[in-house]
Parts: sequence; structure tokens; C-alpha cells
Amino acid sequence: MQVVSTVAQLRAALAGAPRPVGLVPTMGYLHEGHLSLVRRARQECAFVTASIFVNPTQFGPKEDLASYPRDLPRDLAMLERAGADLVFTPSVEEMYPAGFDTWVEVSALSRRLEGEVRPGHFRGVATVVLKLFNQFRAERAYFGQKDAQQALLIQKLAADLDTGTQVVICPTVREPDDLAMSSRNTYLDPAQRKAATVLYRSLCEAQRLYQSGERDAERLRSAIRTVSAAEPLARVQYVSVADAGTLEELAVVDRPALVSMAVFVGKTRLIDNVLLPPAVS
Ligand code: AMP
Repeated sequence: MQVVSTVAQLRAALAGAPRPVGLVPTMGYLHEGHLSLVRRARQECAFVTASIFVNPTQFGPKEDLASYPRDLPRDLAMLERAGADLVFTPSVEEMYPAGFDTWVEVSALSRRLEGEVRPGHFRGVATVVLKLFNQFRAERAYFGQKDAQQALLIQKLAADLDTGTQVVICPTVREPDDLAMSSRNTYLDPAQRKAATVLYRSLCEAQRLYQSGERDAERLRSAIRTVSAAEPLARVQYVSVADAGTLEELAVVDRPALVSMAVFVGKTRLIDNVLLPPAVS
């Protein structure tokens, strides 16, 4: 497995690579969720690449950029075992040299849900992902359903700007107690870690109600809030039942919907989502 940290080295390493090339963009501190994307890429691509870059432009001024967990040697060992051929680990200066001044915005999608409570977040995500798409020119790029809005936004970006990279969305990987895997789970102390299971439990209650015939979106949101309220360590930031394509809030679930939420457990902000009708896995 080759490890490169400049765009020039990356281009040279990719020049003779067998096609198709698959790309898995990450911010590192890897877990099984990330590795599931690498394995999927391994199944579908002749050359599997990943990037590890904690992208400063997608963090708000009060967010956890400085404390975001990092462990490059461990990440590289995990990627090698999962079958990656090439890893790109650029510095902030390599990605954003002095004078950098071009930004990408996926307008409507980036204003909803996460975008509403994290202004500027998706501008940072879209910009760095378009840079990665241009740098790698991969045939396919793999993203997790865990970050459903991000995945949708990147699909839209790829379609609107003709990037030539097919965006593949892969299922959320969960811990044995169904907490969605996330690098940020390491912030949780044991009591908070237990409390964090409330996200998926709340979302499952909405799925259960939907399957028993409930179609009123507000009743689904309210059921999610009720389950979450029973967990004293959790503070809900938002609950959404939205059109699965446009992310517009629904009154009636009369089309595929994304049910998503953001919750603070202590200072740690966690997100999770499920689809209606439930995805068949
Ligand atoms: P991150 O390092 O958090 O930026 O995540 C990199 C990629 O891994 C993104 O496409 C995420 O959606 C995906 N990812 C993160 N957690 C999970 C998970 N639990 N299951 C599946 N994919 C995930």
C-alpha cells in the first residue's frame, strides 16, 4: 500500500493504476464503518484508494476541529488490512494553499437539517470533495448512509458538475447495541456511551409506527422526541421526517422519507437516520 501526501505524488501514483479506481474519502480515526466502504470498493474496483484529511473548512468556529481524534499509524494499518492500494494524507497547506479562494455550494440541500444548525459545514464538505474528485479522477467514490445528507449532497454535486465520479452510498455500520459507528463515539464516557443508544431506539420507534400504518409526519417526530426525552443524558437538537431526495420536511409520509436526528450527549453531537420505508439490508 502506497502512502502519498502531495497532489503531485498522488497524480504520479495514479498514472498507471488499473481502472476502475475507487475512492473512499475519510477524516481518519477509522472504524468498521469506514472499512465497509473500503471493502465495497475492493469488490467493485481494480484499484482502491482512500484519503485521510480532517477538513478544517467543514468545522464551525465552536466545533471540535482541534480535538478531533487522530491516529495515522493505526488508520494506515487498518486500510492496508482492508485491502487499500493507495492512501492520500495531505496537509492543510496542500489542500488549502495561501490565497485559496474558490468555494462550492450545493444550494438548497445544504441549507436543510445539518446545514441549518451547522452553517458553512456543507460548503466545506462540497469544496473538499470536489477537490478530491478532481485530484483522484476515480470512477467511483464511496460514502456512508450514516451521513445521509452529505451523501445526497455529494450525489447532487457530482451530477450537477459532471465530475465523472459515480457516488455509491453504503449502509450504516452499527455497534452490537446498534449505535451507529462514528469517530466521535470515542468522546463518550461509559454512561454517555450507553445513553447514545437512544438515537437508534427513537428512530426505530418511528419505523415501527410507520409499519403499523402511521403516515402523519408530526406524530412520527413527536414519537421520536418522546423516546429521546426518557434519556436524561441526551438533548435533542433536531428531529426530521423529510422527503428522501429533497430533504423538504413532510406533513404526510406519502413518499420515501429520511427520518433523521441530531442529539447532544454531553458535549458530543451525534447524528443518525433511518429510511421509510425501511431499507432492505
Ligand atoms: P468521516 O471520517 O466521518 O468523514 O466519514 C468518512 C466516510 O465514512 C463518510 O462517507 C461517512 O458517511 C462514512 N461513515 C462514517 N461512519 C459510518 C458508519 N457507521 N457506517 C457507514 N459509513 C460510515
